[in-house]
Amino acid sequence: MSRDTKIVATLGPASSDAAVLERMILAGVDVVRLNFSHGRPEDHIARASLVREVAARIGRTVGILADLQGPKIRVGKFSDSKIRLEQGAPFILDAKCELGNSERVGLDYKDLTRDVAPGSVLLLDDGRIVLDVERVVGSEIFTVVRHGGELSDNKGINRQGGGLSAPALTAKDMDDIRTAASMDVDFVAVSFPKSAADMYMAKQLIHAAGGQAQTIAKIERVEAVDSLEEIIAASDGIMVARGDLAVEVGDAAVPALQKRMIRLAREKNKLAITATQMMESMILSPAPTRAEVSDVANAVLDGTDAVMLSAETASGRYPVETVAAMARICQAAEKSAEVTLDSEFLNQVFTRIDQTISLAAIWTAHHLKVKAIAALTESGATALWMSRLNCGVPVYALTPRPDAVTRMSLYRAVFPLFMTQRPSTRDELLHDAEKLLMNAGIVEKGDFIVLTAGDPMGISGGANTLKIVRVGDQQPYKV
Ligand code: PGA
Ligand code: MN
Repeated sequence: MSRDTKIVATLGPASSDAAVLERMILAGVDVVRLNFSHGRPEDHIARASLVREVAARIGRTVGILADLQGPKIRVGKFSDSKIRLEQGAPFILDAKCELGNSERVGLDYKDLTRDVAPGSVLLLDDGRIVLDVERVVGSEIFTVVRHGGELSDNKGINRQGGGLSAPALTAKDMDDIRTAASMDVDFVAVSFPKSAADMYMAKQLIHAAGGQAQTIAKIERVEAVDSLEEIIAASDGIMVARGDLAVEVGDAAVPALQKRMIRLAREKNKLAITATQMMESMILSPAPTRAEVSDVANAVLDGTDAVMLSAETASGRYPVETVAAMARICQAAEKSAEVTLDSEFLNQVFTRIDQTISLAAIWTAHHLKVKAIAALTESGATALWMSRLNCGVPVYALTPRPDAVTRMSLYRAVFPLFMTQRPSTRDELLHDAEKLLMNAGIVEKGDFIVLTAGDPMGISGGANTLKIVRVGDQQPYKV
């Protein structure tokens, strides 16, 4: 059974050997995420080439997403690697402290002292520990523990309500962008962007390093929520990064934000990934909880392009089972959704010819209930337009460009296929496309398909032709 929603799986120690990767890809991984918060560049390079090797061997398309660490603000290390904080106790965050103890701990972000004031609330370790700031003196932030617990080395710090001035792209991120560009990854995710400028800067750095990667803005700061539309305009897609986002805006605000972010991204023809704790319990358990099943299904119903796995596949006990469970939840949710074309779209004014053709194809495919749409595309632009609306018909995107094939692995309801292009006329090309779908077992004689192409061929964004074909007939179908 096919699945429209794509699965992004983070790689780590639990998913770095060829046999496990093969089983994960066969279970449904469409894109792998390399988390640059962990590991050395050579680890990521090795993992990426292993993924490509395995995918090629089993004939699957797998995209690669490099996720930059960003300015994650962390406490330093403790002399005993961890401490216990009791409610009501004083605790000092000290930019000058080397090794921490139960009284104070160091900071790897020295400017935190400038970003907080009496009354600020600091959340440590994804909000498990809450500190109230009482006063700031020199390098020391004096706090009182509101919610205590165990605190270990290098745990993250967020400020409730945002307001941390650390720039989105650190020196390490800039090095990692060069590594990612040399690996020719499909997507680069920027952590903690605050503004559109952060995303333009990332894009520029990728291009300067000779990369083609598309950019994904991780929405995980209050400031990013406030500038959501500008950030979406400056990026190729967004990630609903619920881990840090929940700490900054409060967990209860996240579900509504998720819906708004996905809707806005799709309206602007951009991608959306929903991430963090989707199948969290499967790190240790072979089956998801009811709440996790609902969460994944709801993200699918919200219209996300992809759902993402983090520790579940990077370090969990059941990486393959988690992917398989996620795949079956997506399929059931897609089946349950009522397919109605967005009525807004009927009144939209199109300015681009390729967009007009793409949406005409969607409209036609939906009303004629055809078996498939075959989009002959260079860059994948036509397939992206088409996948922003749910018409209930799968889009097979045929392209001669390998980079477009892997990029489209993230597009919802788009199934990219590589098509070697021989010099031919447009009609021969459309015939080749039809044959390719037939040989792949996607359509059979008598099925209707909608074909789109550019005429002349080979121009990115040049789609201008729509043809309705009955497979096996020479003549176009006349309605
Ligand atoms: P992270 O981002 O896993 O890199 O922190 C995702 C999130 O914050 O949800
Ligand atoms: Mn994060």
